[in-house]
Amino acid sequence: MKCEVCNSETYRKKVRKQHWFRGKLYIIENVDAEVCTECGERYFQATTLDKIDALITGEHSVTEVMSVEVLSV
Ligand SMILES: [Zn+2]
Repeated sequence: MKCEVCNSETYRKKVRKQHWFRGKLYIIENVDAEVCTECGERYFQATTLDKIDALITGEHSVTEVMSVEVLSV
């Protein structure tokens, strides 16, 4: 596909995604994305995002639990 930001080509890549769901932050690995070769913008299909929500709400195993620092500038 073409990047909506800079109109360059994108390529398929598995990425690590920060995903908010019901006020909680999740890090999801191996997510299918289209990534822009020029600006690095990432695009996710709606079905991919639905799959992640279903994964979170259903039975799932947790790879790792991280603590996250929240800062303000
Ligand atoms: Zn781009």
